[in-house]
Formats: sequence, structure tokens, C-alpha cells
Amino acid sequence: MTKKKLIAGNWKMNGSLAANEALVKALVAGVATPACDIAVCVPAPYLAQVQSLVTGSPIAVGAQDVSAQAQGAFTGEQSATMLKEFDVRYAIVGHSERRQYHGETDEIVSAKTAAALANGITPIVCVGETLAQREAGETEAVVKRQLAAVIHVNGHCISEIVVAYEPVWAIGTGKTATPEQAQAVHAVLRAQLHHAASEHAAGIRILYGGSMNAANAAELLAQADIDGGLIGGASLKAPDFLQIIAAAR
Ligand code: PEP
Repeated sequence: MTKKKLIAGNWKMNGSLAANEALVKALVAGVATPACDIAVCVPAPYLAQVQSLVTGSPIAVGAQDVSAQAQGAFTGEQSATMLKEFDVRYAIVGHSERRQYHGETDEIVSAKTAAALANGITPIVCVGETLAQREAGETEAVVKRQLAAVIHVNGHCISEIVVAYEPVWAIGTGKTATPEQAQAVHAVLRAQLHHAASEHAAGIRILYGGSMNAANAAELLAQADIDGGLIGGASLKAPDFLQIIAAAR
């Protein structure tokens, strides 16, 4: 099955009106006709600004989180329907920073995935082990447990999700999983998806995230089950992000 790779930037809590304009204008000028799908997941206050900057380009806009709730007394949260009003195409859910700093459990991540799917937003569901878990030989069990929760709640709808394997020890640390380490986990996730959604599993994109950069992207993206990247630091530098996009074919 042919599927386009997806290169998604996660700006995290970075940016300003001026910096966003410079970055997105450079990306729009540099992408031309990409072989892959592209998204930038931006802080919520900048959704409208970035949406207007990418209009007419192949770059889609994503959010970094979405509420599991539809509306009401949930101070500080953004619902999927609100995001949809800003043409948000993707929403990262279950990023390790949200699991770690905001107490997001597998159940919450699964409910957020459901809220995104119900509103036509593609959730980018993050899974990944900590260094301690890897060293204890628990990598496979951890990522399978995280994905199983999402499958359990979302059933056959998981054919519409994107999965991102992000080893926590590789995020923002400059330590990248080797292509072999990443591929091994991606193969485990693919098999799990196959079990849950057999005819659709091959079409579900599994991204790698964790210090992917212009220098290591091509080798990672060449692995059989790596269907794109979720990129933090390097997505804030237009030349680097454009090089990663060029490597995704
Ligand atoms: C991320 O935040 O999802 C990420 C992969 O960050 P970095 O590329 O900076 O490691």
C-alpha cells in the first residue's frame, strides 16, 4: 500500500507573532511540491495566525492537545469543535510532556483521541517508554499498553489515527533511537494495529519522534515501518525542517 509520509512539527510552547510569521513564511516558500504530508502543531493562541499564513500551501495546522470534554466548566481547555473552527487537521494527544507534567493517563489519552476523531481531527497518538523502562526491558510492554488503551476505547476508528513512537529518553535530549531500535518498536506497534484493524493496519502512519533532525532523518525514514516524523526542536528552524521534509519520500 502506498501512503504518504507525514512530517509534523511540534513547536511546544515556543513562538511569537513575529517569529511564527518568519518561520512559516520560510516554510511556505521552501516546500514547493512535497512528496509527504506536512503539519505544524502550534500553541493554541497562534492557530488563527498560522492558519492564515499557510493558506494555499501544502502545510496543515495542528494543535498540541485537545480536551476530552465537549464543552463547559473545564478552565484552560480547548474542545475539538473549537479547534475545528480554526481548520485544525491534526491534534497531538498523549505527548509524554502532558503525561508527565499534566498527569494524563492512558484513559485520558484514549478519551482525547475519541474527541478528536468524533470531530474530524486526526489525533497523533504518542506512545513511548522512559529510559528506566527501556533499561528494565519494558519497552514493548509499555508502548503496547499505551496503544491498547486507545484501541480499546476507539475500536475500528483507530484506522483514522496516526501513531507517534516517541521514546521519552530521546525527546529534546539529542539522543536519537537508532534506526534499528526505532524500527523494532514500530514493527511491534504495526503488529498490534494489525491485530486490531487487520485490513487497515498497513495504512496507519506510525511516526518516529525524538531528536529527529536534518542529519538523521533520511536513515530513520528509510525504515520499513517508519511513516514520518514528529519533530520538536528541529521544527523551529526552517532550513532543518525543510531538509527533513525533503528526506520524506
Ligand atoms: C517532540 O516534542 O515531540 C519531540 C520529538 O521533540 P524533539 O524533536 O525536540 O526531540
